[in-house]
Amino acid sequence: MPDFTEQTRRKFLLCGASAAGGLAAASDFSFAQQFSPTPECKDGHEPTQRQSDGPFYKPRSPQRADLREPGSAGRAMELSGLVLTRSCKPIAGALVDLWHADEKGDYDNSGFRYRGHQFTDTQGRYTFRTIMPAVYTGRTRHFHVKVQAPNQPVLTTQLYFPDEPQNRRDGMFRRELLMRMAKREGDPAAHFDFVLDLA
Ligand code: FE
Repeated sequence: MPDFTEQTRRKFLLCGASAAGGLAAASDFSFAQQFSPTPECKDGHEPTQRQSDGPFYKPRSPQRADLREPGSAGRAMELSGLVLTRSCKPIAGALVDLWHADEKGDYDNSGFRYRGHQFTDTQGRYTFRTIMPAVYTGRTRHFHVKVQAPNQPVLTTQLYFPDEPQNRRDGMFRRELLMRMAKREGDPAAHFDFVLDLA
């Protein structure tokens, strides 16, 4: 197993190539390698772009990592990543609140289907299990998310899927907010590292 030196670890963080659990553990090295290098590598110090939260945000979502619903026809997927400062330090205990459309493109506005929040672990990691949100009229496929370090301002933004035909037609779409999809067997695994505007 390769030894993860501090320099290597930092390079991975700057390049956004650290996979879920890819911080210091050598055993995660091969998984991290499955993500292709991102063109935004040099922008590792830039905070994640903000976007509107849209009309369907609901506060007080349940704390949970698994948003899947029994019997859902939606394709299961994983969304994971890190919450980092501009200097690429992992932020422990950061809130990550996720909400998205269901397999028909509808939001649950009476309950909390496909809504949930969690807090990053000591290494700044978060992982959700959920389904691929369906595309709804006027938008490309996306997640909504709010991220907040303890006692700091909230970052509200949206995440996008690569290779979606609607990306080019959705005025909200930003390349900088594309998730990286892991090429591995089974359910899709998306990865996104949030960079908060903190030193
Ligand atoms: Fe939406």
